[in-house]
Amino acid sequence: MSKSHRALRLVLGDQLTRGLASLRDCDRVNDIILLCEVSDETSYVRHHQQKLVMILSAMRHFADELRAHGFHVVYVSLDDPDNSGSFMGEVKRAIDTFSPHQIVVTEPGEYRVRQMMEEWQSAFNIPVEIRNDDRFLSSRYDFAAWAEGRKELRMEFFYREMRKKTGLLMEQGKPIGGQWNFDIENRKALPKGHRPPGRLRFSPDAVTQEVVALVTRRFSHHPGSIESFGWPVTRRDALIALDHFIADALPSFGEAQDAMLNDEAFLYHALLSPALNCGLLLPHEVCVAAERAYHEGHAPLNAVEGFIRQIIGWREYVRGLYWLLMPDYARSNALDAHRPLTEFYWSGDTQMACLAASVRHTMEHAYAHHIERLMVLGNFALLAGIAPEDLEAWFLAVYADAYEWVELPNVHGMALYADGGVMASKPYAASGAYIDRMSDFCSSCAFDVKLKLGPKACPFNYLYWDFLDRNGPVLRGNPRLGMPYRTLDKMPPERRQEISKDAARFLSSLADGSVTDSPLSFQKEMW
Ligand SMILES: Cc1cc2nc3c(=O)[nH]c(=O)nc-3n(C[C@H](O)[C@H](O)[C@H](O)COP(=O)(O)OP(=O)(O)OC[C@H]3O[C@@H](n4cnc5c(N)ncnc54)[C@H](O)[C@@H]3O)c2cc1C
Ligand code: SF4
Repeated sequence: MSKSHRALRLVLGDQLTRGLASLRDCDRVNDIILLCEVSDETSYVRHHQQKLVMILSAMRHFADELRAHGFHVVYVSLDDPDNSGSFMGEVKRAIDTFSPHQIVVTEPGEYRVRQMMEEWQSAFNIPVEIRNDDRFLSSRYDFAAWAEGRKELRMEFFYREMRKKTGLLMEQGKPIGGQWNFDIENRKALPKGHRPPGRLRFSPDAVTQEVVALVTRRFSHHPGSIESFGWPVTRRDALIALDHFIADALPSFGEAQDAMLNDEAFLYHALLSPALNCGLLLPHEVCVAAERAYHEGHAPLNAVEGFIRQIIGWREYVRGLYWLLMPDYARSNALDAHRPLTEFYWSGDTQMACLAASVRHTMEHAYAHHIERLMVLGNFALLAGIAPEDLEAWFLAVYADAYEWVELPNVHGMALYADGGVMASKPYAASGAYIDRMSDFCSSCAFDVKLKLGPKACPFNYLYWDFLDRNGPVLRGNPRLGMPYRTLDKMPPERRQEISKDAARFLSSLADGSVTDSPLSFQKEMW
């Protein structure tokens, strides 16, 4: 075989799509498709065990599928004794073995990996073609063009452009229903004891069982349990999961979008992000399926519009921001937050029922829905002043859908306001009243959500005011925070002192690890 006819096509674990840009012109006879499980990637954060199973099993299935279609696949498993442990090492090994004339890749989802790929041309002395990832509906360059010259990069305006561009839910150039956004009809609480349709669980097949054994053997020190694993790991199963969502959950998706229940991790959410983010589903086909459900009268407009906005709005927008602003984006810390991550994010061992349930859902399923991520886990970290890099590492590790391009802007910008307002026009900070309104958590909590101060008071209540007080120099000028600051200013000085005292005591009890955050031990400390 002459060197000049063979391309080496590296496919990453989140690129498991048959029509991937770098596979489209693949020559079945000559080209080599390389997939590799490398320890650099499985261990650079302590990924949840289910996340590892999901990605490794999906990779193995994808390799089998490519082989079945006649492609020449080289698959390097973690247990391969010659595995070098890095992309760089495996690409080098493949070059030495197959002498390709060129490397073809699709752009990766992480800045760090892109930097690495850009060095390969000179490191290996071979042309490297990095192709645009056109599974996304807005390329990095489209987004940069949209952002150019704008004072504010608000998602809502980006989303309207995406609706026009894709034609989704559009009629003669105008949004169907006469509005772009129907959130006013969404965001309702669910009654206690409400039973949503339930999750479609895919039983592990032989390939997945083999990966479960591997992960149990090598990664049992990683967080999360593996028992309830049921994520789709093939294109076929991912399509079944999509059908299930459209048929059973989409009609109530809008109304129930912000609700939280102690005993229900999934509610009416799509559960599609793990499959979407590793390439088993495509964003456009998912939106078309939802749009069809609206036109067929199966799902109401508020639900379908809300769902499509998450995909062509938020999902594309966070990716655009990531590539526009990295690497500086990750370094900002607008609220100067430096508190180390609290231990209970790993163990769930806290008396605060909302946090305990959100961590439990996370550890059981490598999943928690958006509002638990934002308004419980993110909100607490924001109010407590947790260091952005600590919380980011946690979010990147524990969710089956977590890749840096999507995790980082959501945690850094949306949850922690560490970017100073690039992404969110105000911090998503809330007291216990919000959590109480949207969930059934507070009824089983050791703290009392109605109490504002003292050992039994819900910590979110005094932490919220303390957060505003503490961050006044940065946040006071924000017009969207005028009302809470006016309320704060009307409080007598003694009350503000009590708030700050309660917050300081609570936070120091977390920091020194000497007491738990239970109302009783807190009380012991106080009196
Ligand atoms: C602090 C924080 C961290 C997050 N980290 C991740 C992450 O690592 N990976 C990830 O995919 N999503 C992340 N999200 C966004 C969102 O929470 C998840 O996409 C969603 O919970 C996935 O579950 P689902 O498929 O049931 O989604 P649904 O709630 O049913 O939403 C439908 C789809 O919309 C997309 N979507 C919705 N919101 C967002 C968003 N803010 N950003 C990107 N896509 C969105 C997802 O593809 C999702 O599958 C994060 C959000 C927050 C607040
Ligand atoms: S009372 Fe406060 S800490 Fe307890 S569940 Fe409600 S919001 Fe969470």
